[in-house]
Amino acid sequence: MLDNIISYFDMCQCEGTSLQRGMNFRLRGGHSVILMSVRANAPYRDRVEEDGSVLIYEGHDLPRSTSGPDPKSVDQPEFLSAGRRTDNGKFHHAAQEYKNGNKGPDLVQVYEKINKGIWADNGFFHLLDSWIEHDGTRRVFKFKLVAVTAPEEPSLAVVTNPSPEIRRRIIPTQIKLAVWKRDAGKCIMCGATDELHFDHILPFSKGGTSLKEDNVQLLCARHNLEKSAKIQ
Ligand SMILES: [Zn+2]
Repeated sequence: MLDNIISYFDMCQCEGTSLQRGMNFRLRGGHSVILMSVRANAPYRDRVEEDGSVLIYEGHDLPRSTSGPDPKSVDQPEFLSAGRRTDNGKFHHAAQEYKNGNKGPDLVQVYEKINKGIWADNGFFHLLDSWIEHDGTRRVFKFKLVAVTAPEEPSLAVVTNPSPEIRRRIIPTQIKLAVWKRDAGKCIMCGATDELHFDHILPFSKGGTSLKEDNVQLLCARHNLEKSAKIQ
């Protein structure tokens, strides 16, 4: 669920597969899953733009091997030696198909690593664009994803052209980290340390901001449900 804090294990349970790689194209024919990080020591340069509604995700390197070159020194591959597409190639092809008007945008679930063992569910995005750019050393893939409101049933969702009104914003990483630290990794109501959720004190739908830690707090699943029941 959006803005939940989850373990790697829970993430795999949710998606029904072991997420060994950062880029997972159309799992079981449905939505794709990507793992992102904007931490200083992250292996790829993912970035968030436009106050949190746009994610620019970097493609991935050749796998590291003992005999081959340093993967960070060579172009990110689009194809495997057998001519099949890599994950970069699959996401790139899907984004270009959308741009050319041949299909709707792919739906992508995004998880963000915010600290060791701490992941946040950043919700669903549409894959709208992709390109190759030179990073000073080599060619890397970039993917543009725009946050959308989570559909009830992603695999059955009719994916339409996203309009700006339905754009939501992800909570910036530094806010997530500050809130996690301030609330000591516990529900502020009961001290529970599992099934935690980043709660907007004044909800986003009522004009509450994601950009100030004063408006975000940690709640467990139970207290989060109790709160949303009161608001509705
Ligand atoms: Zn609680």
